[in-house]
Amino acid sequence: SATQGGGAANRAEAHVAHNYHPLPVMIARAEGAWVTDVEGKRYLDLLAAYSAVNFGHRHPALVAAATEQLGRVTLVSRAFQSDRLEPFAAALADLAGKDLVLPMNTGAEAVETGIKVARAWGYRVKGIAQGKARIIVAAGNFHGRTTTIVSFSDDEQARDDFGPYTPGFDVVPYGDAEAIAAAITDDTAAVLVEPIQGEAGVVIPPEGYLRRIREICDEKNVLFIADEIQAGLGRVGETFACDREGVVPDLYLLGKALGGGILPVSAVVGNTDVLGVIRPGEHGSTFGGNPLAAAVGLRVVEMMQTGEFQERARALGAHLDAALQPLLGNGVAAVRIAGLWAGVDIDPAKGTGRQIAQKLLDRGVLVKDTHGQTIRIAPPLVIRATELDWAVEQLKLVLA
Ligand code: PLP
Repeated sequence: SATQGGGAANRAEAHVAHNYHPLPVMIARAEGAWVTDVEGKRYLDLLAAYSAVNFGHRHPALVAAATEQLGRVTLVSRAFQSDRLEPFAAALADLAGKDLVLPMNTGAEAVETGIKVARAWGYRVKGIAQGKARIIVAAGNFHGRTTTIVSFSDDEQARDDFGPYTPGFDVVPYGDAEAIAAAITDDTAAVLVEPIQGEAGVVIPPEGYLRRIREICDEKNVLFIADEIQAGLGRVGETFACDREGVVPDLYLLGKALGGGILPVSAVVGNTDVLGVIRPGEHGSTFGGNPLAAAVGLRVVEMMQTGEFQERARALGAHLDAALQPLLGNGVAAVRIAGLWAGVDIDPAKGTGRQIAQKLLDRGVLVKDTHGQTIRIAPPLVIRATELDWAVEQLKLVLA
């Protein structure tokens, strides 16, 4: 049975800045839904690196794509063209039903890019006066950690002491489309929301929210930007979380799983009338769209095109939902679930989310707490139903 590799793990980060508080497990290897620590103990991974490892650790097809590309060329910068970028961009644009892809690396960079595109569109296409463009965002959002992005976070830990803050954002309650309609002015360039809020604890908006945002944005000539960085690429049982409501945003922001858990790959995907506003020299990234990233990203898109992972997320999500229901009222206060992605609120009488995560670790299950009482379950989509059952059994024992 698995226990924590505590000693080694606690000593190990003396020179690592304290911007995280990791659970005491030091991982040395991984395959599929399982990781192995430095002492050889195995753990079932129910975090999947915040959904960056949707396809499982070291998926053979992704490792093959990376390995093959390592033997060719890995980086040329965008000063020159590589033979890998256009095939990746074409496939990703096709997956999203859009024309253009702007490749970046991290999720936060994709969000920053979306903000710049929206502002440039606001000035050049919509005709907003210079310096006046505004973007509407939702309370409880998590879009990343840059100075501009934390400027419109309402999480004190993310925001306090990092000012001065970037202006130009209006925060409205999440899940309330009419609040968005009421906040729109002639200076509003875009609405930026997560279709399901991840870091907030898998917060699922009321049915119709995304459809209504689409209508409002169409009526008022405002861009709809969907941050699908955590929710997208199979996690919720669809290619994009917006697909749950049959909604197509003006810009998709993608990241995490787009790099197959191998390297950071992010992208903004949109049509020429929007994403085409960016001109040469106005935006870029040394590593964005590099051949290695493009080779892995192309394979990710090909894996999404089969529909296999979306189907797994749907079926396994229904299985997980059924397994979690009996825990309601028995140590679990609430369960929110979309595809294979659950926010589980722990009854405070049973401990904090962190304490439960620590106890699950001792039993060989890796989860991450968020916002005090919530643990999130987002396993690699290659996990088996029997493994999910075993993990829920461990949670039941921890809560008993
Ligand atoms: N947007 C969402 C919805 C996220 O969940 C995250 C990361 O958790 C980000 C953006 C930021 O991505 P990254 O950590 O790669 O910068």
